[in-house]
Amino acid sequence: MTNHRCCRCGCGVTSDEIALSMKLQGKQTRQYLCLDCQAAYSNTTRQRLQALLDRYHRTGICSLFARQNP
Ligand SMILES: [Zn+2]
Repeated sequence: MTNHRCCRCGCGVTSDEIALSMKLQGKQTRQYLCLDCQAAYSNTTRQRLQALLDRYHRTGICSLFARQNP
């Protein structure tokens, strides 16, 4: 958990959620969204975003996402 908060609901966001916000809204964004709000914003589901996160973690193709098994 980080010191950042979701700009919609105000709950704390994780580093993954920040990385996903940057990925979907541009790296310069300061509008971080939690997974639930990001799903609503992107017109998708939380499950799909989670699957996306898992894929980024697994492949390590995006430097925004820390690898779980370096
Ligand atoms: Zn939120």
